[in-house]
Amino acid sequence: MMTRRTLFGSAVAALGAIAATRFATMPKAHAAGEFEIEHTDAEWKKILTPEQYEVLRQEGTEAPFTSPLDHEKRKGIFTCAGCDQPLFESDKKFDSGTGWPSFWEPIKGAVIEKSDSSFGMVRTAVECHRCGGHLGHVFDDGPQPTGLRYCMNGVAMKFTPAAS
Ligand SMILES: [Zn+2]
Repeated sequence: MMTRRTLFGSAVAALGAIAATRFATMPKAHAAGEFEIEHTDAEWKKILTPEQYEVLRQEGTEAPFTSPLDHEKRKGIFTCAGCDQPLFESDKKFDSGTGWPSFWEPIKGAVIEKSDSSFGMVRTAVECHRCGGHLGHVFDDGPQPTGLRYCMNGVAMKFTPAAS
């Protein structure tokens, strides 16, 4: 018997397969000098794990309910897995029930938002301001006070607990 979660996971896996095909033929091109932290594609492959590379550099999406950061409830800071830029504070995190770590506000100036029309949907992609790494998307169905839902890939981030 297939659960809803299994069906959803399969759909996401299928999308991931499409994305892998699409981006294999259309490499993402950021202009040189656009970001403070830049590496060649070969360098990124050495720096990142295959899972981090797939999301950060190929705009992949991790399967939902797979990231330990989805359940991270300690006080601390979520940073970019590519360049250590602080991205989100734990007190702006909420449980969206989607299976991806979700926040209602990023740290000021930490991310860039870009229109993304892949998969026939117009969405707003969220990138790291410092290295241009793809982090996830932002939607307008989040909680107050912003009403925004930053839906992030946990694999694209690291968590540093606050010193107590
Ligand atoms: Zn970064």
